[in-house]
Amino acid sequence: SSAYDKAVSEIKWDEAGLVPTIIQDAVSKEVLMMAYMNRESLGKSIESGETWFWSRSRSELWHKGATSGHIQRIVSMHYDCDGDTLLVRVEQNGAACHTGSYSCFFNKVEGIAGTEAADEALAAVPTGDRFAMLNQLEAVIAQRYAERPEGAYTTYLFEKGVDKILKKVGEEAAEVIIAAKNNDKDELRYEASDLIFHLLVLLREQGVPLDDLMAELGRRHNKSKQSS
Ligand code: AMP
Ligand code: ZN
Ligand code: ZN
Ligand code: ZN
Repeated sequence: SSAYDKAVSEIKWDEAGLVPTIIQDAVSKEVLMMAYMNRESLGKSIESGETWFWSRSRSELWHKGATSGHIQRIVSMHYDCDGDTLLVRVEQNGAACHTGSYSCFFNKVEGIAGTEAADEALAAVPTGDRFAMLNQLEAVIAQRYAERPEGAYTTYLFEKGVDKILKKVGEEAAEVIIAAKNNDKDELRYEASDLIFHLLVLLREQGVPLDDLMAELGRRHNKSKQSS
């Protein structure tokens, strides 16, 4: 196809005919893995809408998820400024890593200057972002969805299935209403947090990114600006 021809001519393939390819979760934005594509795997990826790579260790084409079932449905594909790296955003089915981990990047380098004192969770978040926690929560829920760690409440919800999640969303919405009726700010803060958490679980289960909600809110905001 012409899309394939354009990409093949603009990508800088290395001596072995490969290009490093970063795979990102299109929903949570987490970086999931890195692998290599050759021209043929790029063609198969474009054609099928699922990721195909070149396995350097096995010297063969590799359809991600062929044996594990952890298929990656492609949402978008970009190459960088100088064409030496690919970025593929995917809807990840299950865990991206063959170890069963949500992301391959679980080996943390410790002891980096300037990171000693920082609170682990907050350090990852740009300062001044009031809603960074929603972002983080979305990523943690995506991780639970993929890895299903034993004993986690979020795992329990996903295992129970969509009806259980919907029931919780309904219950928490009712509890928000009761808290507001009682004029109890502490209770409202607590129940509204419950509602948002369960709503995020539902969005992950349904494959709807928080970004899509933000875009929707943005569109309404712009419309109301025009009409006012
Ligand atoms: P899969 O493509 O998920 O069915 O896994 C098939 C094989 O591909 C595994 O046995 C691994 O050798 C390799 N593999 C799968 N996922 C990864 C990954 N994220 N990084 C490196 N190798 C992988
Ligand atoms: Zn580059
Ligand atoms: Zn891995
Ligand atoms: Zn509650």
